[in-house]
Amino acid sequence: MATDSQSAWDKCLNIIKDNISLQSFKTWFEPIKPVSLEKNVLTIQVPSQFFYEWLEEHYVVLISKTIKRVVGDDARLEYKIVVDNNTSGNPFTVSMPTTKQGNNQNEEVEAPLVYGNSIKNPFIIPGLKKINIDSNLNPNYTFDSFVEGDCNRLARSAGFAIANNPGGTAFNPFVVYGGVGLGKTHLAQSIGNQIKVARPNKTVLYVSSEKFTNQFIESLKNGSVNDFIHFYQLVDVLIVDDIQFFAEKGKTQDIFFVIFNHLHQSGKQLILTSDKNPRDLEGIQERLLSRFKWGLAADLQAPSYETRLAILDQKMYADGIELPREVTEFVAYNIKTNVRELEGALISLLAQSSLNKAQIDIDLAKKIVKNFVKSISREVSIDFIQKTVCEYFNVPVDLLKDKTRKRAVVQARQLSMFLAKQFTNQSLKSIGKFFGGRDHSTVIHSCQAVQNLIETDDEFEEAVGQIRKKIEMSL
Ligand code: ADP
Ligand code: MG
Repeated sequence: MATDSQSAWDKCLNIIKDNISLQSFKTWFEPIKPVSLEKNVLTIQVPSQFFYEWLEEHYVVLISKTIKRVVGDDARLEYKIVVDNNTSGNPFTVSMPTTKQGNNQNEEVEAPLVYGNSIKNPFIIPGLKKINIDSNLNPNYTFDSFVEGDCNRLARSAGFAIANNPGGTAFNPFVVYGGVGLGKTHLAQSIGNQIKVARPNKTVLYVSSEKFTNQFIESLKNGSVNDFIHFYQLVDVLIVDDIQFFAEKGKTQDIFFVIFNHLHQSGKQLILTSDKNPRDLEGIQERLLSRFKWGLAADLQAPSYETRLAILDQKMYADGIELPREVTEFVAYNIKTNVRELEGALISLLAQSSLNKAQIDIDLAKKIVKNFVKSISREVSIDFIQKTVCEYFNVPVDLLKDKTRKRAVVQARQLSMFLAKQFTNQSLKSIGKFFGGRDHSTVIHSCQAVQNLIETDDEFEEAVGQIRKKIEMSL
């Protein structure tokens, strides 16, 4: 039996690691710190209330079984929640099982600013509780049409939880971040649309940060800043898209701060999107950034091949179109970075075929996709990939075809296979041929090994990035 908290927790981690995906492990278990082990009570420290709730909801069985195995049958787990929001509030402790606590901030919230003495509010009419505000939501952006994949699982499920209980979860604010065209707007609006269906009495408002800024400037000109503030303070669910545009706009940030505080204090839901993790946003006031940390920031990643295929299928289904399987596979395979481009390729394909009355086949798909992906026209050769990788790792190219199991060679071999799969259209079988006739399952295994290493080893990830750049430059 383990006797100190660190070794007990290490043992638990070893067991847990084998039972969940690496990504979940990194997200939910690596940030945990063991605090103490006294008698049968193991105390672990988690970074937020949300974190604690998520563990309880998703991993309670696994965790309790594991600690029983490690600490003994009468083991108990206690959580200590230490929220990092730049204040010196006291951490609080929750035992398991327990009822859920309220929001997690242990920071005092400034009262909203009041501009001027009298507040004129055109929207509050006695006897009329709710006003009718157009939500500005696109009705097509729903959870049903938002395909789930590893790339968006956390963000999607947190969004779903919010839609079912706006303002009532610990994910407030909810910040969805990620690169262009990965579905931030779609997901944020899905939450709004879902709330409108389930709770028609809630006022949902979607606004881009640019529009918000322009409205504010307009209100400054008209002397109606108070009305502007009041309007926003009336909503139950406020979705602000692309908050990175608030950068360097100090006055807009001041006003947003006021509105944010008011809504948050009144238990209203805030949903924000950003092109970066909020902690990396520049030109945004610290007090706003620290508030963004109160809830949950979840990222959207580029979708995997399988998810891209599922997205194409979903779009075709929605539009009542059918395409030959090899065409969708070709498009999904070659358009990798961005869902918007994926859709764009599909639309061009349909447009071209109806304009020219051409059949949608793989040749047409190749022509269209070429416009979206520059690299497709000049495919890089596997020989070149092998040469580039071997130069980087200083390994003789011949050894890639050899049986050598030396670590450096294995790594170079696996990485070359991985890049061959990414940069060429060769089948796994023919890729294997370039490596001394290895079979396709070896190629699959190698790609998986490289993917795992990229996720766990920063130095390796950096190396892959540099090699990839070299290959891309040759195109
Ligand atoms: P962002 O706001 O991140 O730039 P959008 O939300 O505008 O991206 O998404 C771009 C396009 O891709 C939209 O048409 C959206 O419907 C679609 N899209 C993105 N992610 C998904 C997904 N997981 N499932 C279905 N469609 C998606
Ligand atoms: Mg967007």
